[in-house]
Amino acid sequence: MKIKVASRILEANDRIAEENKLLFRQSGVTVFNIMGSPGAGKTTLLEKTILRLKDGMRIGVIEGDIAGSVDAERIDALGIPVVQLNTEGACHLDANMINSVLADLPLNELDVLFIENVGNLVCPAEFDVGEDMKIMVLSVADGHDKPLKYPLMFTKSSALIINKTDLLPYVDADMNIIQRSALLLNKELKVFKVSCKSGEGLDGFTQWVSGLKFP
Ligand code: MG
Ligand code: ZN
Repeated sequence: MKIKVASRILEANDRIAEENKLLFRQSGVTVFNIMGSPGAGKTTLLEKTILRLKDGMRIGVIEGDIAGSVDAERIDALGIPVVQLNTEGACHLDANMINSVLADLPLNELDVLFIENVGNLVCPAEFDVGEDMKIMVLSVADGHDKPLKYPLMFTKSSALIINKTDLLPYVDADMNIIQRSALLLNKELKVFKVSCKSGEGLDGFTQWVSGLKFP
C-alpha cells in the first residue's frame, strides 16, 4: 500500500515535470537543476557564473531551501530575477513546487534559469522538475568516497563540478579518485575542476553552459 502511494506521487511528479518542461520550451528558456550537499558551493558557483555571463545572457534563479532567504538575497544583489522557495522541511524540490513559483519569474524574458536545489546528496536526484540538465557540485572537502556512496546523483547529472580545488593541500581527498569513480558511474559525465574562490577553472564551465542550446 505504501509503495503504491509513493509510486503515484512519483507519477504525478513526472507529469507536472513534463508540464514545466513544455512551459520552459514555449518560453525559450534553458533550465539547469543544481544539486549537491550543503556547503559544496552551489550558490557561490551561481554567483560567479552569473557575473561572467549576465552581460550576454538573461538569467533567472530559483533558490530552494528548507528555510530562510540567505541565498536569494545574494543572487538579488546581482540584479538578477530570483525567487526563494522555502520547502518548510522537505529535503528536495519537486516539480509541483517549481510549478507553483514559475508565474513569479519573467520566463519569456529569460535565456537561462538556474534552479538551486536543497542541499542534499540523496533525493534531489530522484525528482525531475522539468529541467534540461542536472548539474552536480561536489567540494573536495566532501571527500572522494561520495560517488560510490551516493551514486544516483552522479548517474543523473550531465555535469560534475568538483569545487574548492584551492583546499586540496588541506584535505585528504584525492580528486582523481572522485573523477574516476564518477566516470565509472556515468561515462557521459562532463567534469569541471574549479575553485569558485580563486576563479580557477570557471571559464571552462561558463563557456560550456553558454554554448548549450535546447530545442
Ligand atoms: Mg546555497
Ligand atoms: Zn528529499
